[in-house]
Amino acid sequence: MNLIFFSIRTKGIHNFARRLATVFTRFGFTERPTRRALRTVVDALQEHQAAPTFFIPAIVLGRHPALLAEIAGYGAEIGIHGYVHNDYRTLSSHEQYVQTEKAIKVFRKTNMAFDGFRNPYLGWTEESLEVFSQLGFTYDSNDAVFHDVVDLNEFSPLLQSGFQKSLKLFQAVSCSTYALRPYFSGKILRIPTSIPDDEMLFDRLRITNAQVGAVWSKVMQRVYDLGGLYTLNLHPERATLCKPALQALLAASRRQALPVWVTSLKDVAAWWKERSQFRWRITPQPANRWLVEAECTSRATVVARNTTVEGSTTTPWFKDDVQVEARTFTIQSTHCPCIGVSPNSPQEIADFLCEQGYPFVRCSLEEAQNYAYYLDMPEGLGVTREEQLQHKSKLVQHIEALDTPFVYFGCWPNGRRAALSISGDIDSVTIQDFFLRIIEVFQSNI
Ligand SMILES: [Zn+2]
Repeated sequence: MNLIFFSIRTKGIHNFARRLATVFTRFGFTERPTRRALRTVVDALQEHQAAPTFFIPAIVLGRHPALLAEIAGYGAEIGIHGYVHNDYRTLSSHEQYVQTEKAIKVFRKTNMAFDGFRNPYLGWTEESLEVFSQLGFTYDSNDAVFHDVVDLNEFSPLLQSGFQKSLKLFQAVSCSTYALRPYFSGKILRIPTSIPDDEMLFDRLRITNAQVGAVWSKVMQRVYDLGGLYTLNLHPERATLCKPALQALLAASRRQALPVWVTSLKDVAAWWKERSQFRWRITPQPANRWLVEAECTSRATVVARNTTVEGSTTTPWFKDDVQVEARTFTIQSTHCPCIGVSPNSPQEIADFLCEQGYPFVRCSLEEAQNYAYYLDMPEGLGVTREEQLQHKSKLVQHIEALDTPFVYFGCWPNGRRAALSISGDIDSVTIQDFFLRIIEVFQSNI
């Protein structure tokens, strides 16, 4: 699918003409406007001791290696955004492999380190995950979560339909506590990205800077309340335009009662891998007490709920939960502060609870009442992606709402409640790149 066909299909001929006009205002014939835009994002994040993650098609990196090395030198992470800017959903598994391998070669040739992959148009398939895994990527950033924070009824039917087309294109799932958490699919970590992005708000709905800042701040509030990750996709071509909105979002992240971790996607990936090794050991003690041992690193956020903690200092955390400083401590409770899992429930249930940071133990149905929560799911978590997502979201929602004594690992390091990553796809650096895309995508399909 070439760019013109894609743009007309998703934006309509009128919007495509509008888009062409903006190309000449946002890009230049030199690297200057894009350099300024990239620096705008880098500088805004530096004030928060953080760095952005940019994704770039390898062929574009190959034309601008010095600029990207300079931006990486300021601490920005650079990931792969295809070899050319094409939709992997139109490619066979073999073609995806060949093109990804070709992209890696360009990154290696230009000495650009990379950890992650984001598909153009977030156009991933199950085969893509296999390819990323085989080629040694740490994570992908394609799983789109939709935040329903804009009242579409306020917009004309034409603008609404453009917005809906983007939603469909991005294969977005609804927001839930679980959907906002990264998860392993085999060796690949899937890091969710949030929708609407800058393109949907500015170019599809044509809303103003102040409104965009308010929408992003609203998403931040929701992500904070659910304790998840907000990955914003801000295309650098709109970065200068979006600067006030970005600053409003960063200010909203600072306003929260508990700290929000502003960080790059590779650091999220490294953390989630570290956290995946954490384990719980809970042993009964006399007089309704439980010895809790958290096997984890010093960065872990150990949380206790609805109980008195002995042998450690605690600090108030989210809602009524407390953060526990020690890794070994005692709690008072008539119930074991962990989840009981029936012998018939398959291993995937145990693996899932482990990844979510919840303590669990195998036990029989007769012992169910001794635990904070009991799971008997012989049918497992479902077969299709939709079923899995539904079951997992429901499960996390139930567990997060437990009103019995319970302990768990918070999602983010050092007591942070939520995480925020500012990412951006550098689809083109110059006007020439923008028009070369049309030829490149066409050639990659023949
Ligand atoms: Zn792109």
